[in-house]
Amino acid sequence: MRLILLGPPGGGKGTQARLLSEKYNIPQISTGDILREAVKNSTELGRKAQEFMSQGKLVPDEVVIGIIEDRLKTSDCEHGFILDGFPRTIRQAEALNVKLKGLELNIDIVLDLLVDFDELIRRLSGRRTCENCGNGFHVNDNPSKVDGKCDECGGKLIQREDDQSQTIKKRLEVYRESTEPLKEYYKKLGILREQKGKGNINDIFKSNCSIIESL
Ligand code: AMP
Repeated sequence: MRLILLGPPGGGKGTQARLLSEKYNIPQISTGDILREAVKNSTELGRKAQEFMSQGKLVPDEVVIGIIEDRLKTSDCEHGFILDGFPRTIRQAEALNVKLKGLELNIDIVLDLLVDFDELIRRLSGRRTCENCGNGFHVNDNPSKVDGKCDECGGKLIQREDDQSQTIKKRLEVYRESTEPLKEYYKKLGILREQKGKGNINDIFKSNCSIIESL
């Protein structure tokens, strides 16, 4: 199964992608995670990406397209994958299409997680992320068992630089401008499914699984 999770920052793509990845045993490919790892390790890619990320802007298309092309070549993608945070522009979507066509593959479904603006701000500003494993928490909705520490690996929980208020606004603006047009793009291809993104995480997960299993 090849799946795209679409939706705004804070829409729950990462959370749902992790759950789906575990259940269906296919990798979660998050361009955000790959870029954050590169920034953490101060690689050339990380240095290039950081200035865009810290301002809430998109990293240039050619950079992320290159990341995805490399990642899709690895053997764990043979039986499918979940794209989380890619594509984010029409140009990225087109590049993905061309790439998959060349491999005689296609995307089975695009799940669009719908969450209203106020809820996104609430979620993003309360979000805490493990600096070690990337696991996500929320100060009210999903607090860690021990304050400031990841339940999974004990790593330190931090507020991502781009989860601070001015940057959140910019990211949501960028989403509206550059990423929202993808809904229409995938609707035309007949593979877009809208999904309520607000509510209990497990209920949303079950509903996502039903959509996938009805394909
Ligand atoms: P995320 O964790 O998916 O919200 O991504 C964090 C940041 O990484 C974004 O605000 C962008 O700066 C960058 N990023 C992640 N994925 C992409 C993408 N597909 N295209 C451009 N920039 C991206």
